[in-house]
Order: sequence, then C-alpha cells, then structure tokens
Amino acid sequence: MKSSASTNSKRDCRAGAPPAITDATTAASETLALQVKEKARAIGFDLVGVTNAHAPRHAQGFQRWLASGFHGEMGYMAKSAEKRIDPSKILTDARSVVVVGLNYFCEAPREGTRPTAGRVARYAWGGRDYHEVMGEKLGRLAAAIDECGGPGTRSLWYVDTGPILERDLAQRAGIGFIGKHTNLINRRLGNWILVGEVLTTLDLLPDEPEREYCGTCRRCIDVCPTRAIVAPYRLDARLCISYLTIELKGAIPVELRPLVGDHVFGCDDCLEVCPWNRFAKLSPVREFQRREMPPLTEFLSWDERKFRDFFRGTPMLRIKRRGFLRNVCVVLGNIGEAAALPALKRALADPEPLVREHAAWAIEQIQSRCLGIKSAV
Ligand code: SF4
Repeated sequence: MKSSASTNSKRDCRAGAPPAITDATTAASETLALQVKEKARAIGFDLVGVTNAHAPRHAQGFQRWLASGFHGEMGYMAKSAEKRIDPSKILTDARSVVVVGLNYFCEAPREGTRPTAGRVARYAWGGRDYHEVMGEKLGRLAAAIDECGGPGTRSLWYVDTGPILERDLAQRAGIGFIGKHTNLINRRLGNWILVGEVLTTLDLLPDEPEREYCGTCRRCIDVCPTRAIVAPYRLDARLCISYLTIELKGAIPVELRPLVGDHVFGCDDCLEVCPWNRFAKLSPVREFQRREMPPLTEFLSWDERKFRDFFRGTPMLRIKRRGFLRNVCVVLGNIGEAAALPALKRALADPEPLVREHAAWAIEQIQSRCLGIKSAV
C-alpha cells in the first residue's frame, strides 16, 4: 500500500498536481476519521473532531493549578493527574481521541419564577443526568469505532467522569476553544456544550486545532460574584459557586454564603454573559428540557425518600438531600422573605446537622433583612 502511494505521489508531482494525500496510511486514517465522524453525527452529537493521544497542551498548567490548591476538595483530580496529562496511561496504545460535543441550550425559565425556585445550572434543568444521556451515545460511538477499526481495535469513552483534560483535547480536535471562563466555546453554538471523548487504538487523521477568540473581552471575569476567575483561563474552584454548591461536601464558608445569591445548584453566570452565545441554538434533546421545580421552602419538608423520588436520575442526586437542603437554606437566607421562616424553623430540627446549621444562618439573615431583628450572637 505504501509503495503504491509513493508511486502515485511521483506521478502527481510530474503532472503538476498538488501533493495532497500522498501516503496510503494517511489516506486510510482520513477515510476512517470521516466514517467515525459520520457515525458520531448520526448518533446525535452536534460537534465531532479528532486529535492524537499526545499529552494535552495545558498539562503543565494543570499541574501548577493543582499545586496552587485551586481544586479544593476535589482530591480525585490530583489523584488522577498523571492520567489526565497522558491519555496513553488510560488506554495502552491509544492513538487517537475522538472528541464530541452535545448542545444542551434550552429555554430560560419564565421571569418571575426565580424568587421562589432558586437558580439551577442549565445542564441540570432536565429530568435526566447528562452523564447518562452522553454516556449512552458515547457507548454507541465507541462500539461503532471498534467496528470501523476491525478486530483488535480497543476504545474507551468518557464524559466528565474520566481522568482527562477534555477541554484541552476538544480545542486540539478543533471543536471549540477554551474561553477565559475555562469552558469550551464553539463559534456556531456558543458555550452550552457538553463534551465527551472516545480514546481509541485506531489511527485517525487529526483535525486542525481551533484558535482562541476571546480577544479583549473579560465579561465572564467581571460578572463572577465570588471573583473565582482569578486571571484569564485560571479558576480558583474553591471560590466558584458551582464548586460551593456541588463539590463541597461540608458547610459553605459563611463569608461566601451571601455571594451564592439565588444559585441553588451550580452557577451559569460566567457562561450566560459570553457574547458567543448569540449563536446558541435550542437543543432538540428531550432530556435537557426544563422541568418545573417546587418552591424552595417545600424541599425543606421532604424526607430522604421524597428527595430521591423527585431527583432520581438527575445530577442533584449526587449532592444528596443534605447538600441540596444546605443550598436551599443559603438561597432562602439570601432572597427569602418572612414567609420562609416557618419552614426554616422546622428545619432546625432536621436530622442532618449540616441542614440545621444552614437553616439557623438563613433565619438570622431573613430576620435581619426583613424584620430588622439583629442576631444575638
Ligand atoms: Fe471569552 Fe468573553 Fe466569553 Fe469570557 S465572556 S469566555 S472572555 S468571550
């Protein structure tokens, strides 16, 4: 095959044709890449690109980020650091990474529903965890890649859960660029994109990396309530509201509670303001469509079973009832009115100490703000 390609190359050069694809191996890897991309689109991914399995560009930056302690309690990040910066440590003989993106942009809640419901990060609006939605599609893609490669091909898929610097790989695969808010942006879809990847032993022709297009903009940096984006492309997760309301298991630091505002699960503030979102398109994926949430005070009366029944299959289940009610109390403390006090007072007897402590804080905030009663402490 190779020698035949060389022969073709000589013939083309003599004829004055551009020496486009001159190597049979390259031609084969290009054909395979095209087949894989076609499969990915047929499965429903909005974006697909290919890169090699070399170390991500920001491997060293990631290690410096860890050394600064910016990952907070996300110990799993440090634990898997070696794998995150070397895909071949995840899949021996990995040659390529197929990176896919799924648009999850859907309608914003009606104005006026926010004060009682609190705000939830957009990826969690639907009735099903995106890890499952993406996982199902990625599993099908990995199987299709193995089929394209034939016997001996091995592939492994990840969505968020894997020890991979996925945004880095996504930029290198050409499906978007990392914004100053550290999330992926696609020039046709904005930043409402879920990223997943399939590592494979198959040789696929890589795509051209995407350039960066933030320019002089710094809206996401300026809008962050906790100033968590400490420098362009550098996030101190310990300050990020997504971290405080999802990753942090214990109490939310008292000084940060007022800054959490009405964010009851995650935060999209830096994503919302990105000007690239003028290109966002509504996602047709049913599982991402928004479902109504009850008023915040209602959650406080829910026991473990009711909580599980309502949030089964959603990302909220991850933080458990105690984490979610902790957040509910903080939001009520920030935006709740005197009408929320009876529910919060009942929560003072909650079986979870974490909930009791945050309920007491919320009561103080509301009493001080709405009734002018100052704390005795
Ligand atoms: Fe980049 Fe501006 Fe978007 Fe931030 S808001 S990611 S600086 S384009």
